[in-house]
Amino acid sequence: MAWKFHYVDKVDVPTSSNLAFGSAFHNTIEAFLNGHEKPMHELWAGEWQRQAEGKQIDYGSSSEAEQFNLGIRMLTDPDVQKGLVDTFLTQEKMPSIETYIELRIPGIPIPIVGYIDIITSDGVPGDFKTSARSWTPDKAYEEMQPLFYLAALKQLGRPVRGGKFRHYIFVKTKKAQFQVLESAHKDTELDWLAFMAKGVWNGISKEVYAPNPNTWKCSPTYCEYWHLCRGKYV
Ligand code: SF4
Repeated sequence: MAWKFHYVDKVDVPTSSNLAFGSAFHNTIEAFLNGHEKPMHELWAGEWQRQAEGKQIDYGSSSEAEQFNLGIRMLTDPDVQKGLVDTFLTQEKMPSIETYIELRIPGIPIPIVGYIDIITSDGVPGDFKTSARSWTPDKAYEEMQPLFYLAALKQLGRPVRGGKFRHYIFVKTKKAQFQVLESAHKDTELDWLAFMAKGVWNGISKEVYAPNPNTWKCSPTYCEYWHLCRGKYV
């Protein structure tokens, strides 16, 4: 449904502040890992400015200043900074940032494209997330996004040993936290992914757009189309 509202109906809605925050945070971490020499709070200020510029942002019960200060607090937290250095900057080779990938699935005439946030020197892909709460290993394992990346790398002739994937979670709690959660996926899960993708493609081809009320997005906080759809609370 959200895909239809965005790409077919082109409904003009403000971006949720959580999504804008996540994008700015993500870009700041990438700039840091790409070796930009500015201090973290300056990188954040620049990325936040880029998100806020020319975009309508719905701050809900929060405010622009609160979101900006939250980013500063998280990115200057000594444990978060130590976690970033220990996890990424002590490896023998610098990680690859934003690797473009395409996945082709038989029966779907167009590729599924994306960018892998990070591939560390051991070849394991990973994704950065910001979250209001800490994640459990089960939540990390149940995410579908890693399967796209693992399937695409396999198709490119770069299979990931053990089907490993890592989530790097930056938690917005009063004392910011940095979590690293590794999951391992089997080839049968990649077959399931292809099956799911074909189902979605068949739906789109026939203009059937199913609501997906069991995702993190389906809430008034994260779905910008909530006022049109309301998921299972319709
Ligand atoms: S409210 Fe839920 S089901 Fe509806 S578009 Fe948003 S995420 Fe999808």
